[in-house]
Amino acid sequence: MPIGNHAIVIGGSISGMLAARVLSESFAHVTVLERDRYGDGPALRKGQPQGWHVHLILARGRMELERLFPGLGPDLEAAGAVCFQWSEGARVNGPFGWLPDYTSDRLLVRGSTRALLDWHVRDHLLRLPNVRMEEGCAVKGLLTDPSRRAVTGVRVARDSGDSEIYGDLVVDTSGRASASLKWLEEIGCAAPPESVVDCHLAYSCRWYEAPKDASPGWKLISTQPKAPDDPLSAAIFPIEGDRYIGGLATIGLKSVPDDDAGFLELAKSLRTPEFHAWFSAAKPLSPIYTFRQASNRVRHFERAPNLPDRYLPMGDVVGTLNPIYGQGITLAALSALTLGDSLARASGPDPLSAAVRSHLQRLPREVYATPWIMAALGDSLWPGTTIAVQSRFQRWLLREPWLWLFRRFSVAINRMAAEDPELARGLMEVMHMIKPPAEVLNGRLMRRAFWRMFRAPRPVPGVVPAPSR
Ligand SMILES: Cc1cc2nc3c(=O)[nH]c(=O)nc-3n(C[C@H](O)[C@H](O)[C@H](O)COP(=O)(O)OP(=O)(O)OC[C@H]3O[C@@H](n4cnc5c(N)ncnc54)[C@H](O)[C@@H]3O)c2cc1C
Repeated sequence: MPIGNHAIVIGGSISGMLAARVLSESFAHVTVLERDRYGDGPALRKGQPQGWHVHLILARGRMELERLFPGLGPDLEAAGAVCFQWSEGARVNGPFGWLPDYTSDRLLVRGSTRALLDWHVRDHLLRLPNVRMEEGCAVKGLLTDPSRRAVTGVRVARDSGDSEIYGDLVVDTSGRASASLKWLEEIGCAAPPESVVDCHLAYSCRWYEAPKDASPGWKLISTQPKAPDDPLSAAIFPIEGDRYIGGLATIGLKSVPDDDAGFLELAKSLRTPEFHAWFSAAKPLSPIYTFRQASNRVRHFERAPNLPDRYLPMGDVVGTLNPIYGQGITLAALSALTLGDSLARASGPDPLSAAVRSHLQRLPREVYATPWIMAALGDSLWPGTTIAVQSRFQRWLLREPWLWLFRRFSVAINRMAAEDPELARGLMEVMHMIKPPAEVLNGRLMRRAFWRMFRAPRPVPGVVPAPSR
């Protein structure tokens, strides 16, 4: 039994498509409005500038995407996505050395471009009989009832002219560069409070053909930064068409290179020589793309004083986390599943409004809380990080001496992970959001870590040994 007749989704990227998928179960019709046009096949779009960059979908996100769209995984693979178990194919250089070999069959990932992923998600979505996507349709503002208490639709601009579209619910997934706050201001709604933790990260990425004579023994290779003195990280990541995306990420640097010499120079300063060697040997297939403003930012819509009814922000409109942790798409999938659950559970005289209110309250607690605190804590370890958070507890936690303590703890855990396959597996399962941190950082491990924190650190070898596989 539908909860409403028509749901409108602003933005036809990953959050919008996943939201539309769950809305299709509770509404008679769902219309996704996308400003860009997808074209005839997978292609990068103006509205998704991050699509040029490394996009890893965590194992949890892949799993949930494929739960929402059965058959998506095999379709991606048939189109060239590279499927592998993280424990077998990924070589990860942690802050204190290569992670040891471990086994886990819970970390299946598929390497592809964002364009390929979004194309196939769209293909699956549009198989649903009650969902349509209108492309080349830019939302310009929100429509409300005369009291301005509830959103009733959107104003749109198309090539054919401007018009209005009405619906029972407007889900706003217009992304990190969206005009949502302006739209809300126009209808008299105050901006929601925001929390920001910004370590001033910048990305520099390029697409490559793999070196012909290289048999690297890995599918993906990455090296993590080491707070507080080694802010450079890198990843090389397989995508469809026997290609790779290679990227460097810096913390605190004012600029990132967008030229050959600068890119190679920066790669040379990594503590792992493998990357410079690979980048020097591989054939570039693209210019170098850069991205800044990759801070952790969450808007607390649940605390917005007069958010109108029947308006639901989701995805990057609500929160963007430092992309180095690769959580965005997984959060989009978890948000959509939580929305589906809120809609299914809704009751009372106005179940739709009840579902929206409940979802807004659940998002920060059930979806964002753990990834946010992991990202915020990790990024607060860097000198110069901007910290402006709403939660009193977090304001207390994200400052000295707690950061000093956490820095030491993180050194201890990372040193232990470089020697302990069980811990390496646990940390990777936490990173992929397969396990909650508390399951890995249990009492026994915490005792070992605290003991290690105050023991003299072992010397770190100057040259990192080559991976064993
Ligand atoms: C450099 C970088 C690297 C990243 N790497 C990863 C990663 O490795 N793994 C991961 O999971 N996540 C990663 N992310 C995050 C991920 O890209 C986002 O979390 C994800 O795309 C969220 O999608 P979204 O649908 O909320 O927003 P977007 O993907 O930004 O989509 C918004 C959509 O709305 C449309 N739109 C905007 N305004 C309007 C309008 N007025 N009318 C109609 N349509 C409109 C846009 O055209 C666009 O299609 C990365 C992000 C960045 C910046």
